[in-house]
Amino acid sequence: MILRVLKYGDPVLRRKGAPVEAITPEIRQFIADMLETMADARGIGLAAQQVGSPLLITTLDIRDVKNRPSYMWINGQDEADPEAFMPMILINPKIRPMGKLEPGPEGCLSFPEIFGDIPRPSEVEVEALDSEGRPIQFRAGGLLARAIQHEVDHLHGILFIDRMDSITRQEVRPDVEELMQRTKASLARASS
Ligand code: ZN
Repeated sequence: MILRVLKYGDPVLRRKGAPVEAITPEIRQFIADMLETMADARGIGLAAQQVGSPLLITTLDIRDVKNRPSYMWINGQDEADPEAFMPMILINPKIRPMGKLEPGPEGCLSFPEIFGDIPRPSEVEVEALDSEGRPIQFRAGGLLARAIQHEVDHLHGILFIDRMDSITRQEVRPDVEELMQRTKASLARASS
């Protein structure tokens, strides 16, 4: 089932995710719905908050992006093909950013038509559970490292506008304000 993607201004986007305690049939269905929703929206990542459920679950798929490479290393230094791990499901992820800060363009399904350069560490160590609840561990670089950091931020109620430098934030401010007003108006209509 394709889920509705919440837009900026919806308070659920600021909620911290609850840890997933067990891979129940409901969680399996929710993950399947997240994957379907992400593919339908042509997103490279989706966090549970964005579809209204503040849980520590994110899905990623970088296969459609050909002009921005992704890297993955497993078992220490063995380089792996990230495409072989897509779509990726990370449950209760913990990340440790590494490497130097690099600016790079980002968008967000909760901020349609709004883009900005965000500085982020170039690599990230990831520990999480996969969709079967098995522990996984790897290091990511390139676009995948950026996408994972963007999604794990969502899981803690942090949005990409929070990471923009002041100049970028000024540039997008009118569009962000307008989006927030539109979202608040539609939430008010839905609850009246
Ligand atoms: Zn996002």
